[in-house]
Amino acid sequence: MTKAIRIHATGGPEVLAWEEVPVGDPGPGQVRIEQSAVGLNYIDVYQRTGLYPLVSMPQTLGMEAAGVVEAVGDGVQTLMPGDRVAYAMNLGAYSQKRLIDAAALVKLPAEIDNRTAAAMMLQGMTARYLLKESYRVRAGDAVLVMAAAGGVGSILSQWARHLGASVIGCVGSEEKAALARDNGCSYTINYREEDIAVRVREITDGEGVAVSYDSIGKSTLEASLDSLRPTGTLVSFGNASGAITGFNIGLLAQKGSLYIQRPTLATYIRTRQLLETSAMDLFDAVGSGQVKIRIGQSYPLSEVAQAHRDLEGRKTTGSTILTL
Ligand code: NDP
Repeated sequence: MTKAIRIHATGGPEVLAWEEVPVGDPGPGQVRIEQSAVGLNYIDVYQRTGLYPLVSMPQTLGMEAAGVVEAVGDGVQTLMPGDRVAYAMNLGAYSQKRLIDAAALVKLPAEIDNRTAAAMMLQGMTARYLLKESYRVRAGDAVLVMAAAGGVGSILSQWARHLGASVIGCVGSEEKAALARDNGCSYTINYREEDIAVRVREITDGEGVAVSYDSIGKSTLEASLDSLRPTGTLVSFGNASGAITGFNIGLLAQKGSLYIQRPTLATYIRTRQLLETSAMDLFDAVGSGQVKIRIGQSYPLSEVAQAHRDLEGRKTTGSTILTL
């Protein structure tokens, strides 16, 4: 048996229940891990509320964690008990122990501790594909980053700066603006007070940005489109303010022959090789100091409901981990 956070129905943070659940022994190709830190991600909120439907109930939430291999099943050649490992995009992370396919795990290098791994795997591999695959950032590009003091936003801003971009970060408070500047943003916009597109035109001498990385969704869609240069790209990768529905594709022509993508990390780590390439690139970026992982806050896993309230309430900064 192990302790885990499960939901029996979708709803508010109160549906998150700390329960005793069975774990069992690993089957063929699986391992059992004892987790030491779990990553909190906005997708956990979407799954809790039902915006992203879950296949079955009750369900242990959580998509990312780091820990130590405790037992391996038949046919597992690449891992053994005692190995430090981490994973992302694998439902069932809000647990002390869990079973997982060995193919979903990456071994952690010595310089990445378990807390850092739990804070960075999902958000860091996301930042990587956004910058290197969704739109390939080039030195000199002006780039717009929403929630630039948040989990993904902090990593994205630092990495974009390292790639030579001029980063404009949107944030919800003056404290977050200071963090965004620390993350390498040359300019910040407080989008609770300022008009994003107007400020972007001022900052870029009327040209607009090459790409807007927009995780806010509904409330910033129009501002993102209005901030792009001709043939610019909107990468709409999240919906913290609500999902975009009923989009009029003709707007892309009217606003300058624009591109739009709605990606998910799952696509970019869908094979073992893609996962390894992505994780190694992230380990290099963090190990070399190009990107620092900022753990803004941590909560005991048993108190994850408060972490959800704070994340939805825009009170968190950087990455958040849940400890065991
Ligand atoms: P964050 O740490 O960025 O937290 C969300 C932030 O969004 C808040 O702190 C807040 O910052 C901002 N925000 C603006 N409007 C709202 C609103 N109405 N309600 C809540 N927050 C709001 O979270 P994550 O780093 O975990 O995730 C960021 C986004 O990236 C999410 O939308 C998530 O779904 C998406 N994502 C997408 C992935 C993909 O592959 N498609 C993978 C990983 C994450 P502020 O106060 O500064 O506005």
